[in-house]
Amino acid sequence: MKFYNTLTKKKEEFVPLEEGKVKMYVCGPTVYNFIHIGNARPMIVFDTARRYMEYKGYEVNYVSNFTDVDDKIIAKAIEEGVSAEEISRRYIAECKKDMADMNVRPATTHPLATQEIDGMIDMISALIDKGYAYSVDGTVYFRTRKFNEYGKLSHKNLDDLRSGGRSLLVTGEDQKEDPLDFVLWKPKKEGEPFWVSPWSEGRPGWHIECSVMAKKYLGEEIDIHAGGEDLIFPHHENEIAQSECCNGKIFARYWLHNAFLNIDNRKMSKSLGNFRTVREIGEKYDLQVLRFFMLSAHYRSPLNFSADIMESSKSALERIVTAVDKLKSLNPKTEELTPEEEEMLRTARQLREKFEEAMDDDLNTADAISAIFELVRFANTNAGENSSRAFIDAVKGEIVELSDILGLLVDKKAEDLDAEIEEMIAKRQAARKAKDFAQADAIRDELLARGIILEDTREGVKWKRA
Ligand code: AMP
Ligand code: ZN
Repeated sequence: MKFYNTLTKKKEEFVPLEEGKVKMYVCGPTVYNFIHIGNARPMIVFDTARRYMEYKGYEVNYVSNFTDVDDKIIAKAIEEGVSAEEISRRYIAECKKDMADMNVRPATTHPLATQEIDGMIDMISALIDKGYAYSVDGTVYFRTRKFNEYGKLSHKNLDDLRSGGRSLLVTGEDQKEDPLDFVLWKPKKEGEPFWVSPWSEGRPGWHIECSVMAKKYLGEEIDIHAGGEDLIFPHHENEIAQSECCNGKIFARYWLHNAFLNIDNRKMSKSLGNFRTVREIGEKYDLQVLRFFMLSAHYRSPLNFSADIMESSKSALERIVTAVDKLKSLNPKTEELTPEEEEMLRTARQLREKFEEAMDDDLNTADAISAIFELVRFANTNAGENSSRAFIDAVKGEIVELSDILGLLVDKKAEDLDAEIEEMIAKRQAARKAKDFAQADAIRDELLARGIILEDTREGVKWKRA
């Protein structure tokens, strides 16, 4: 299995620190609102990485934090006239609900920054003792010049950054020894949540959270650290500086970063007003469709979100579900595999190898999905009423298992499928009533594509599977 490592800028064979085990840390969201579909990308991508590593036999310890103390959370709390804790508690619960609907498994541990302050104070003290940090008027800064390897992850030219940084220094930051020095601890402002520390009543900087939580739940050396590419600098660069200077060990061996999700070919941002929450998308689509869409591209390629692409993702995913549904509805006359079927199953197994090759190549989920579609075509061509039960079950098993590794649930329960169909029929009736015949016909065609035939009878609409 190979991963592209941001640290070395190369695809590298994955070798864990401890055989059969993976220690993985993924930076989680700041919880002051519903998560947006950009935040969903690392969640889905790295959940898929975890599922695939488990399929390969690794035991994965997966840690992902919630940043529950931050300027944006405090601002939202002031706006609503409630405590910061109430805001973060609310949006952690909402985030967990969205994760479940996207079939993103809960992490082994989801630490909260506010529950780990003692550990942060300890790490900051250790950095001061070793000369890697200094305090000025209650603020503690990391001394970037003291760490020779500062910049090794982002491959940035530090001199350029330093000269640019000097002109960017804002008031209050002129106490820094160097423009690249960053905050480890800052004093509270009036009305803000605070903790008592040797330097001031205040709160930790954002970067120190992840260094401390990774150390506590995974250890001083971890295998994989991941997040969106916007985190490479300064967040991950600073995590490396803190952890390696405090622990005297290489922090993470493989650094994985997902590219950004854009909307209608533009950067998604609040100021552009083109921001979509996962919850909004969930009102229109089963969030499995969002998951499918995210995995249809390689995680290191920018991905563009649009209404059209969601529609095509929906019908593509349906093709897999329908194939599985058809296999389930067959009534085989024989049980045992015939020699010809055995031969044919060899082709199906080759498609599994193709799937694995794609995933082994830096999680190429796009090619892995293509292998699943080849299996679907294989099933549609080769499995029918004359196939044996063993053959049908084996083909169905292949499609369901490979989809499941990607976290795509394609073996829907009969009741769920029936409910979906009934819902579509009800929508068609409503469209007809409103004389929107184009819409009614579109729904009939969609049902037909799923193998559902409608009959308008005097007692109402009846349906059967083709
Ligand atoms: P934040 O809450 O902004 O710290 O983001 C949480 C995670 O979502 C981080 O790993 C970010 O890199 C990632 N992220 C934020 N916006 C996007 C986006 N538009 N596309 C992909 N990843 C994103
Ligand atoms: Zn982090």
